[in-house]
Amino acid sequence: MTENKAMTDAGWKFDNSYARLPQSFSTRVDPTPVRSPSLAVLNGPLAEALGLNAEALRGEEGIAALAGNRAPSGAEPIAQAYAGHQFGHFTMLGDGRAILLGEQIAPSGARFDIQLKGSGRTPYSRGGDGRAALGPMLREYIISEAMHGLGIPTTRSLAVVATGEPVYRETELPGAILTRVAASHLRIGTFQYVSAWQGAEALRTLADYALARHDPDAAAEDDRYLALFRRVIARQAELIARWQLVGFVHGVMNTDNMSIAGETIDYGPCAFLDVYDPATVFSSIDAHGRYAYGNQPHIGGWNLARLAEAMLPLFDPDEERAIGLAEEALSAYSELYRGHWLSGMRAKLGLLGEEADDETLIAELLELMQRHRADYTNTFVALSSEVPAGIGLFSTTDFARWQASWEERLARQSASREDVRRAMRARNPSVIPRNHRVEEALRAAVEEDDYGVMHRLLGVLAVPYAYSPEQAEYAAPPPSSDRPYRTFCGT
Ligand code: AMP
Ligand code: MG
Repeated sequence: MTENKAMTDAGWKFDNSYARLPQSFSTRVDPTPVRSPSLAVLNGPLAEALGLNAEALRGEEGIAALAGNRAPSGAEPIAQAYAGHQFGHFTMLGDGRAILLGEQIAPSGARFDIQLKGSGRTPYSRGGDGRAALGPMLREYIISEAMHGLGIPTTRSLAVVATGEPVYRETELPGAILTRVAASHLRIGTFQYVSAWQGAEALRTLADYALARHDPDAAAEDDRYLALFRRVIARQAELIARWQLVGFVHGVMNTDNMSIAGETIDYGPCAFLDVYDPATVFSSIDAHGRYAYGNQPHIGGWNLARLAEAMLPLFDPDEERAIGLAEEALSAYSELYRGHWLSGMRAKLGLLGEEADDETLIAELLELMQRHRADYTNTFVALSSEVPAGIGLFSTTDFARWQASWEERLARQSASREDVRRAMRARNPSVIPRNHRVEEALRAAVEEDDYGVMHRLLGVLAVPYAYSPEQAEYAAPPPSSDRPYRTFCGT
């Protein structure tokens, strides 16, 4: 029986279209084998969706593949080249600690990048060791799966394997490898790299590749490169609106961390808001608040302008005309963002249809939440259920006044109050990956090899709109502390 299972084929079915692109786009490099890999966590439902056999992945062969010790058949491991603006400064980067095994063709026919993160040095590693620590990889697993549960486009996490080797950061930490699954790893920075150093023909090749992979229906349009740019703008506008709506702070919105496919990618210093404050910054390296919660929509536009610059030669041979076209396309971003955000906020407040004063109503609530340091998630949860009398924000006369106008607005709708509540609960998560809960799960896993805490957390985060009784304890804000939560890049 066990032998049979071990013999079962994991179901890898690779096609490696990126490796067939011009040589300058990537470097053929194998993961560096690790000493004694052990499986920390495997994502069964994701494995199945990818056409992979979870039992086989748990076996010795399977773990060897997820550890980078043995390439699964059909894999053609590469490190991808890219550049990027990091905190505003342009630089050459590339996969310094990640290796793309290949593209898995799922039973649905969809193509997914299978990437090992923390799999050893590559030609793009610069001074780094090419490795990752267990805590940050488990953190990426938890938060990316939480984003998926929230219904927000994201790269996913198939597995985390502990390497049995130490990595050296400020202290010695256990090493690990995360298997990241993505629609692709095309970044704004990929276009910047090719545009800056590989010439016009390579740029066209990259854009045609992106079109074929993500927007095949736009590939037939006359101005297909402009169409691609517009698609990327539309995806980023919606993605960032959805981050804002759940209080997600990405933390490192460098252009190399912005996906052409519109997925949330690169879970380093990210975290969710507790108290609502647009100035919130979690990342210890973001000294000036460039990537603060309230600045994310603006930075999204800034990043898209960098993509426009990189794509410029594709829009028109005449630079002036190309700039005009790019600016025109880019001008749609703010409106698109605002539209998604506004309709999302209306839904969070149960507002059906549109009234001229809705924006004021929304703005006033946010202003009250900020002034009274209200918990972002739980304020909307309370409004979706029963507003608790007499605590925090809800005890203030300001709020009572706001609530009266909100109730009046709801009363002008024909929907019953119960229907409105139900609709609101579908748009206001009752649980998010609270920083103290994530930390607690990581501590148990990393320090005590107890993965139960993490699995319970993952179970709750998989269905964040369930409003089930067992979720109540996960909804509690952190115990008050005078030290703000800080995140580190985990590199
Ligand atoms: P990130 O901040 O994770 O977006 O990474 C920025 C760049 O640094 C990318 O090119 C990474 O591949 C590279 N990098 C991050 N950590 C390491 C590491 N430990 N070893 C080598 N390269 C790294
Ligand atoms: Mg990155």
